[in-house]
Amino acid sequence: MATENGTATMNSRLATTTAPRSLKRPHVNESAPSLFRRVQDQFERAAEAIGLSRDVRQILARPMCEVSVTFPVRMDDGRVKMFSGYRVQHNNVLGPFKGGIRYHPDVSLDEVRALAAWMTIKCALVDIPFGGAKGGVQVDPATLSRREVERLTRRFVYALGANIGPGYDVPAPDVNTDARTMAWIVDTYAATLPPQERYRALAVVTGKPVSAGGSVGRDKATGQGVVDFIEMWAADQRSKVADLSYTVQGFGKVGSWAARILKDKGAKLLAVQDVTGAIRSQASEGLDADALAEHVKKTGGVAGFPGAESISEEVFFGTEADVFVPAALENQVTAETAAMLKVRLVAEGANGPTTSEGDAVLHERGIAVIPDVLCNAGGVIVSYFEWLQNRGGTAWNADEVDQRLRQILEHAYARVKEMAAEKSLDWRSAAYAAALRRIEQVYAERGIFP
Ligand code: NAD
Repeated sequence: MATENGTATMNSRLATTTAPRSLKRPHVNESAPSLFRRVQDQFERAAEAIGLSRDVRQILARPMCEVSVTFPVRMDDGRVKMFSGYRVQHNNVLGPFKGGIRYHPDVSLDEVRALAAWMTIKCALVDIPFGGAKGGVQVDPATLSRREVERLTRRFVYALGANIGPGYDVPAPDVNTDARTMAWIVDTYAATLPPQERYRALAVVTGKPVSAGGSVGRDKATGQGVVDFIEMWAADQRSKVADLSYTVQGFGKVGSWAARILKDKGAKLLAVQDVTGAIRSQASEGLDADALAEHVKKTGGVAGFPGAESISEEVFFGTEADVFVPAALENQVTAETAAMLKVRLVAEGANGPTTSEGDAVLHERGIAVIPDVLCNAGGVIVSYFEWLQNRGGTAWNADEVDQRLRQILEHAYARVKEMAAEKSLDWRSAAYAAALRRIEQVYAERGIFP
């Protein structure tokens, strides 16, 4: 398959399956502060705690494969614009690479590396047979028309070529991509296969619209997982979700679903921040998450939500509540903002929302953390269910999805709790430790070729 202007850094056999790409060596610490460096530090801390073998540490210290492409897109005015995109495949010892595709102007190779490594940990922790990957295109989709976003998506998929595939690397939605984006990916990927093989294209991505092969419950799954974990944490505190108040940063797929499910359980939403600003409830019953989701759908953000007052970032972070759910981007809970928080729990819906310094402040202040690799794993679990349904030619109902999801989440929560107690670790390190043990076990059993 041909790709245009593609470049790749890879140590896998796929180097020969796509168009010619020049090889370049990965630069692991190319920018500071590096998000991937943070992941490496997190790995190291947990590895030390459980005495992880040196071999496995070395294997996980770098991604297995990095694909970097530049590709042309025809804009509505007829001109061609070039875009850069990445797919980083961190590790696949447990199964096919798995991880979302993000559209954002700040996407970089370093960020995608970190996100891919987190996926390796997440899948191992919740014990599903997937490895870790992530992808992204450096673009602000708000500056493009819908047709331009569609053409960009199709060209990105074409540029990735055989680097993705149903049994090899299976993308999903992430920041600024959604079910519709996934449907375009399936359609484009199918068109690159011989007609006799197109039937298998459906499982090339998860998070598709239900009408186009998606799973019931995938849209809410990440938010559902966040809420389930808050519920488990509340039970440990001998309290109930209905008695909790909370704030949310990011009101996209993860934040809005978490808030809507928390509303159904009786929790009170006090304040929300997104890219358009921050708002606070003026009513004693808090903000209505369903009405706010409608408002965001219509206007593109939380700003101007009727009945709410606009607040500053400082006031948002300083809002007194039981739980804070970061569900936007990385690096939001810093030493500075962690010091402002007046909550008992940070439930990380986003990937990497807390910096190392932020983590230290939360720890010092005794604020509990349900770490990202555990807290937002509901999405990839139901993605796994979707992949199984596609490959089995079947469809599960909502109860089946919810029950199986809850079972896996409870098991993962218990593993982290146990590991934290056994090794006297914070929950983030405990989650990594549990995941690393699982990966180490597989390497020990399989050995390394040759
Ligand atoms: P989304 O694009 O649907 O929503 C992102 C939200 O973040 C929007 O409300 C946006 O306004 C807000 N935001 C962006 N920049 C911001 C800023 N600087 N300050 C405050 N808010 C800002 O994305 P999503 O799928 O909900 O993903 C959110 C986070 O959850 C990401 O970290 C993603 O990697 C992670 N995540 C997503 C899934 C999933 O299934 N979608 C699964 C696991 C983890």
